[in-house]
Amino acid sequence: MVTEPTRLNEDAVLKALSTIIDPDFNKDIVTLGFVKAVSIDGGHVAFTIELTTPACPVKEEFRRKAEAAVSAIAGVESVDVTMTSKTTSAQQKTAIPGVANIIAIASGKGGVGKSTTAVNLAIAMAQTGARVGLLDADIYGPSVPRLMGLAGEQPKMYAEVNQLIPLENYGVKMISMGNLIEEKQAVIWRGPMVASALGQLLTDVAWGELDYLFVDMPPGTGDVQLSLTQKVPVTGSVMVTTPQDIALLDCRKGIEMFRQTRTPTLGIVENMSQFICPHCGEASPIFAEGGAQRLGEEYNTEVLAHIPLDIRIRENSDQGTPIVAANPDSEQAAIYQELAGSVARKVSIANSRKIEIPIVQANA
Ligand code: ADP
Repeated sequence: MVTEPTRLNEDAVLKALSTIIDPDFNKDIVTLGFVKAVSIDGGHVAFTIELTTPACPVKEEFRRKAEAAVSAIAGVESVDVTMTSKTTSAQQKTAIPGVANIIAIASGKGGVGKSTTAVNLAIAMAQTGARVGLLDADIYGPSVPRLMGLAGEQPKMYAEVNQLIPLENYGVKMISMGNLIEEKQAVIWRGPMVASALGQLLTDVAWGELDYLFVDMPPGTGDVQLSLTQKVPVTGSVMVTTPQDIALLDCRKGIEMFRQTRTPTLGIVENMSQFICPHCGEASPIFAEGGAQRLGEEYNTEVLAHIPLDIRIRENSDQGTPIVAANPDSEQAAIYQELAGSVARKVSIANSRKIEIPIVQANA
């Protein structure tokens, strides 16, 4: 009996896998070095695909394509794909050891839903398996402890190293001035005090190993915001805005501020973009539409999410059970989960360019 010569070897496997292109890097996954530990045992092929983030939105697509491509090689009986990730960091030397990426969640003005977005985004990111921290730097109005269901908790100290142990809920490590001082105390703080308190919250906390540390920034574009970007290398910022003109104007100022400090804007989140009727579920655009889109075009950055004004988002926040944690399969949670994927992608892209990230340019 004549049998076909076996062509099943590592080269054949890599060749098959090199047909899979990563849409963000425009290169195939073999060239990118994502394929690891190829092993062939008879007709059984196993390998690992190591992505740049656990939150990769095309993870399952890669797995399917990899299985299909390798299964098509003559002689293959089974394919075992392990999906892993190693989060990239553009920081040569991070000011906070162990923290790969610091992402500022900012807004030009208060009340646009920055904290709500930061909390749900952080939890959604943690749900992908990423190691996530959330620093509430909104020192004048620290609302994160309440939103995270951690109001009134006091973080403990590692006495030997003089570091605070972050609180933790929903898989996210969290520290906030709201857990350290009386809320009333903070409002009388002056700029320099706030800046130094912020510095301590960043460096005197035992964050451990984190893929992403989200910083819920104080609203506005003053010295405190500037001092953060000078103290630590911020991978990028996510700007939260509502569709109203005034909020957009403030958002513009925020983007400009980050631009001056050479911090890239990863994208814009348009919050309260539509009103969802709690009775009939109908979506009505109560504010003018398309503002964030235009702003994104002007600054060459993307609108990463449109989050509707939805009573379930507010009610869950108030109860300290953010919708992403309380109801992860809901359509509201899906928006934040998609946002987490988009943010992770933008960070990976920014890191692949190492510090050479083009700063967004206004066309005007
Ligand atoms: P900021 O941090 O910008 O000051 P918050 O996150 O504290 O804003 O949100 C302000 C208020 O708006 C809160 O009561 C919050 O529950 C509510 N809120 C935020 N985003 C939404 C949303 N998409 N739908 C409904 N309510 C929201």
